[in-house]
Amino acid sequence: MTLTYPTQPTASHFIDGDYVEDTSGTEMPVIYPATGEVIATVHAATPALIDRALAAAQRAQKDWAALSGTERGRVLRRAADLMRDRNHELSVLETMDTGKPYQETSVVDATSGADALEYFGGLAGALTGEHIPLPGGDWAYTMREALGVCVGLGAWNYPTQIACWKGAPALACGNAMVFKPSETTPLCALKVAEILHEAGLPAGLYNVIQGAGAVGGPLVANSRVAKVSLTGSVPTGKKVYAAAATGMKHVTMELGGKSPLIVFEDADLDDAVSGAILGNFYSSGQVCSNGTRVFVQHGIKEAFLARLVERLQGAVIGDPLDPETNFGPMVSEAQLQIVLGYIARGVEEGARLVTGGTRLDRPGSWIAPAVFADVTDDMTIAREEIFGPVMSVLDFEDEDEVMARANATEFGLAAGVFTRDLARAHRVVRGFEAGTCYINSYNDAPVEMPFGGVKASGVGRENARAAIEHYSQLKSVYVRMGPLEAPF
Ligand code: NDP
Repeated sequence: MTLTYPTQPTASHFIDGDYVEDTSGTEMPVIYPATGEVIATVHAATPALIDRALAAAQRAQKDWAALSGTERGRVLRRAADLMRDRNHELSVLETMDTGKPYQETSVVDATSGADALEYFGGLAGALTGEHIPLPGGDWAYTMREALGVCVGLGAWNYPTQIACWKGAPALACGNAMVFKPSETTPLCALKVAEILHEAGLPAGLYNVIQGAGAVGGPLVANSRVAKVSLTGSVPTGKKVYAAAATGMKHVTMELGGKSPLIVFEDADLDDAVSGAILGNFYSSGQVCSNGTRVFVQHGIKEAFLARLVERLQGAVIGDPLDPETNFGPMVSEAQLQIVLGYIARGVEEGARLVTGGTRLDRPGSWIAPAVFADVTDDMTIAREEIFGPVMSVLDFEDEDEVMARANATEFGLAAGVFTRDLARAHRVVRGFEAGTCYINSYNDAPVEMPFGGVKASGVGRENARAAIEHYSQLKSVYVRMGPLEAPF
């Protein structure tokens, strides 16, 4: 079955409650990665449009923050319902924007975006301060206040989800947002903006403007902006964090990783293989938290590899809009070339390519899922984030050794362990230098659970109550109940 083509956004930008076109900005073709066809053309925002979006956000924010949390939350929850009602249409658009198979997008993207809108919509009315009793009858209280105008900068792998993961907590806390999607996947965030406004969000509170770093840079630097939330690579994160620091702005940095996934001999083999597949090949490996260093204990190495190769025969690589397809193309030719370069490097440095890793002979940016065995810690494919379907299997003997090796990385986004030994599972997780950990599972990201990294993988957390801390600030108020003494 091939699915119908979705309604596309009607213009490049969404500013002050409406679609806005301005063809004087640089032309940005939108390419469907499965075929290489141009499916839309958007234009980068000009300096005048950047200013218009920020002015609209600043104007709208104070009145929004003055509403009760329950009123704000009602809008978000209505938007969540609309997203669920339109899941099919939004999933097809996500597939066209990214190339990810409909089998994934129909259960992950608009649905997790809707979860975020529903969760933070529900939480908005419960965002309160504290009462703090003090000696002598005095007391203090805190108020949780909005930050103001927030900027969101998105990566290309989850354009709908990222737009919602940033927008939902920002709006729940009373902020306004200007969101810039990745230039590779500009379409989905526009639909999020459209739906939010259809749900009753006042104009100006959620704006989407297009462009590459040349638009992101001025947004981050603008003095009207109080907070910047980036999902992207570590090098971009360092630049954006530094630029935000000059204005003493709040930041959330969701960056890259090279996460370890440890499989002990006592693990359920099929579950461990499932974890490794989910943690390396879902979304064609374009997931920040992927467990790309799969450490397998010596005794089960060959059994693990054999089962993995067998299971990979189940990959259905084809038309991403066909619901039977479970493995799509890379997001772009550029990303495919990066991945092919890493595969060549792996072979050169002596890793054993067990399966896949070749470009498929068809239009679009396709590659067969790759598994390397006999990978050692010093190899490039074991040290650098590839962001593609390339699994590195490394051997280990014992727990102390593998923990030291698992943590020997600048990154710290995620980590996982497969074992039937409960005590060991919790001990290992405690030892991980990572922000998001998994026991006998991998890559789950429910909105109720904080998500984010340590070390070079980021600052701050998205999702759950933890995100509220990053989209609001506390005002403390001391209240004296008696006379005030002074020295003279
Ligand atoms: P990039 O870091 O290249 O870009 C991220 C965003 O920042 C894009 O919108 C980009 O614009 C923008 N940008 C680039 N330079 C600047 C600048 N100087 N100032 C302001 N904005 C700028 O990441 P990718 O889009 O290539 O995404 C892949 C990366 O994202 C991987 O490293 C991955 O690990 C990480 N990621 C992390 C996640 C997490 O939650 N931790 C989740 C998903 C991905 P443009 O692309 O248009 O140039």
